[in-house]
Amino acid sequence: MALFSKNIDNLQQLFVEQLRDLYDGEQQMIKALPMLIDKASNFALKTALQDHLEVTRDQAIRLEKIFAEMGEKSSGESCKGMAGVIAEGDHLVSRGGDPSVTDACIITSAQRVEHYEIAGYGTVKTYARQLGRANFAQILEQTLEEEKEADQKLPQLSDTINQQAREAA
Ligand code: FE
Ligand code: ZN
Ligand code: FE
Repeated sequence: MALFSKNIDNLQQLFVEQLRDLYDGEQQMIKALPMLIDKASNFALKTALQDHLEVTRDQAIRLEKIFAEMGEKSSGESCKGMAGVIAEGDHLVSRGGDPSVTDACIITSAQRVEHYEIAGYGTVKTYARQLGRANFAQILEQTLEEEKEADQKLPQLSDTINQQAREAA
């Protein structure tokens, strides 16, 4: 597949490619989060994931606005990294033998996703600034902050959950 991909000739094209990659990643998470919400037992965890699903939908819309403003299509990239992180998470979560352990699996999987997204959004935010697109940098900064918030919330929840997982038979 990569064999037929078009060359990326400049920072603007790399910016668009990376945005499409992130956009595909958000779409994958919009599909994956409901399954994680379904499998979560801890109410606070369920709520945090539900909140992040809403936030994720907004993030996808934000990217669509950037594509529209640039006159670029949003499709064309599939984020294999996100697919891998999600697949690994699914596999791990499916092996949880106690509800508290399943919740702990969900938290570690979700944190990997957030870190992956933080890396991606940090990069495109920088590109936007370097390309003289301060308005885009601001939009991307908003998403970056939301991903950081999600990343910080998860370990807070894990205090109670991991206590239960420690005591599980
Ligand atoms: Fe996101
Ligand atoms: Zn990717
Ligand atoms: Fe996220």
